[in-house]
Amino acid sequence: MTPEFFHEGDRVGILTSEPIGRVLDYRAPEGGVSNGAYVQVPLGPRKVTGVVWSAGDGDYPLEKLRPVATVIDAPAMLPGMKQFLTRVAEYTLTPLDAVLRLATRAPGLADPPSKRRVYRLGDARPDRMTPARARVIATLEELGGAPLPPADLAQLAGVSTGVLKGLEEAGTLIVQAAPRDAPFPTLDPDRPSKPLNDDQRRGAAQLREAVRSGTYGTTLLKGVTGSGKTEVYLEAVAEALRCGRQALVLLPEIALTGAFIERVEKRFGAKPAEWHSGVTPANRRRAWKAVAEGQARLVVGARSALFLPFRDLGLIIVDEEHDGSYKQEDGVLYHARDMAVLRASLSAAQTVLATATPALETWANAEAGKYARIELTERFGTALLPEMRAVDMRGAALPRDQWIGGELAKGIDARLGTGEQSLLFLNRRGYAPLTVCRACGEQVGCHQCDARMVEHRFINRLMCHQCGETRPIPPACPACGKEETLAAIGPGVERLAEEVTARWPDARVAVLSSDMTESARALRDRIDAIADGGADIIIGTQMVAKGHNFPLLTLVGVIDADLGLQGGDLRAAERTFQLIRQVAGRAGRADKPGLCLIQTHLPDNPVIGAILSGDDEAFWRSEAAARQQLGAPPYGRWAGVIVSGPDERLTFDTARALAREAGLFTQASASLLGPAPAPVAKVRGRTRVRLLVKAPKGVALQPLLAEWRDRVKAPNGVRVTLDIDPQSF
Ligand code: ADP
Ligand code: ZN
Repeated sequence: MTPEFFHEGDRVGILTSEPIGRVLDYRAPEGGVSNGAYVQVPLGPRKVTGVVWSAGDGDYPLEKLRPVATVIDAPAMLPGMKQFLTRVAEYTLTPLDAVLRLATRAPGLADPPSKRRVYRLGDARPDRMTPARARVIATLEELGGAPLPPADLAQLAGVSTGVLKGLEEAGTLIVQAAPRDAPFPTLDPDRPSKPLNDDQRRGAAQLREAVRSGTYGTTLLKGVTGSGKTEVYLEAVAEALRCGRQALVLLPEIALTGAFIERVEKRFGAKPAEWHSGVTPANRRRAWKAVAEGQARLVVGARSALFLPFRDLGLIIVDEEHDGSYKQEDGVLYHARDMAVLRASLSAAQTVLATATPALETWANAEAGKYARIELTERFGTALLPEMRAVDMRGAALPRDQWIGGELAKGIDARLGTGEQSLLFLNRRGYAPLTVCRACGEQVGCHQCDARMVEHRFINRLMCHQCGETRPIPPACPACGKEETLAAIGPGVERLAEEVTARWPDARVAVLSSDMTESARALRDRIDAIADGGADIIIGTQMVAKGHNFPLLTLVGVIDADLGLQGGDLRAAERTFQLIRQVAGRAGRADKPGLCLIQTHLPDNPVIGAILSGDDEAFWRSEAAARQQLGAPPYGRWAGVIVSGPDERLTFDTARALAREAGLFTQASASLLGPAPAPVAKVRGRTRVRLLVKAPKGVALQPLLAEWRDRVKAPNGVRVTLDIDPQSF
């Protein structure tokens, strides 16, 4: 047991987020320090932030230990939070320090208030004006005189802090002390809500009761798109607020937070705290503190909000719980939905998983009775679900550079001039997926990845979707040197936009793609403008499928439904089903009925069949049966293993050495497959080899994996990454 308080001179164990792999011992400072306190400690020549974690059990003589440098003015980390971080580390097989890093992402946490400064605009202008300096001045002018902390100003203006220093010396920026943080306004759960229909009322009552119970539990809130799930779970939020507890709503996409916050404000009369990468550093620090103090009662955010220091978390909503973006794919490989359930279980909280198309894992848990279930089967009000129709493209001899078939084109024609919108969905960013030399057949690839370069016309460059590197479109083929032989093959959204503009020159066209270089704010304004009728034809990638509400939209065209079905990934069928269902759900959300046309070369594919039939339960049942037969998740446990390194031979050697230790798994009736080159066999110059561990459900996989990993010493530069419950394989 760790004592509650350490007196001056006591030995304390401090966990920092430095990659050290263990708790370090220090001496408690003058005045002592509480268990869980956030502190700064000397580490070599530096000072790093850490948490008082334990009593410290090193054998280094007490009198030689360095003392804790500062105790940070913030509420101490609660035992439940420590337990959560520990469990996340154990589950994902990542070092605790890496997990702690997720929990201490409050910029300037360690700064004393005296160090908090803001810049306001002075009258002097610098002798030399640069574009960066001009952006800083324009940013402050736009804010109409409101001062900004340096880090926020740098982020908003897109400049380095060095630029700010220069402007400070020139007298353009004036330093003053930061005002005290404004408290978060109180949300009122008892303001009148929208009158709910019968289904919604039943669902809301069930959730309210669950929240009131003050116990741990999970509910699948399954409702067709537009059924009003949000209104239902906001009632659960209201109940958590009434109980004096905190609530967290996770959303899969930053671009959705703005509209959601407006909805919260209408319902509860004030804005919640917001937490994601688009929030400025000062606002993140303010939110982090207010959450730790228990003052911010509702947080809306991205998956990382799960690691905020809630005092008394009573409810977590995971909206669009099936969404792939809940899995963090670098650093700590965690799935926010699963970790939400874990966090709730440690704080007697309820989790609500809201979706129209649950992940098979979630569906299976509800089937097994582990999760409660609420169903909303109809759209709210008079809106109907869209009619779904497959368009067989096998005989369609489309001209080159065209991907919109006759039936879809007719649908678009019929809507132009009526004020109704059409949405064309193609899950491919950029202009064309392939750039090929017509003379020699060379496909232009990335220098550091085993991946093709994708042409992006908006920026007029080729881009690698693996590493993000861009380069100019070469005037000649890099292989044979012939000029003007490079040709774009296949469509991306930008090229589809070209087809649309050529065929419907008078239509207003909007492209929504996640690689557009605009701020979250600008993107949201653009989406709002589109929703208000600012476009006739919307072209989008995956990001348009997510919760956006376009009331004028009545036609959805899926350009190529077969894209996601190829490749044989474990979740290919599930993902295609979810994606097409969700994108179709954008149509006909108001009073006009919607139509969804699905262009496919595989009209007999069972996934397409399931989408058309509308019998979701039949789809989940057959998908579940297939997984069960494979021993695949959720009926078995899988762990992906990626071995990567700069040297191909050493990387493969390590993977083979690991494979030779497979006996450890067979003894536990698990098995090891591989090694084989990963689907993208090289990224950023590193070779990638993968293995797969399959285990029956009851096997405790993590301890086995940890022992297995430790049996092989990876040579310098070679990394072994374990991915529990991989999203694709
Ligand atoms: P979902 O999240 O299930 O897709 P939403 O909660 O976004 O659905 O609701 C769809 C639309 O129906 C929204 O525009 C919402 O404002 C409206 N709506 C849902 N429930 C009600 C209600 N009880 N009263 C009025 N409007 C509602
Ligand atoms: Zn690359």
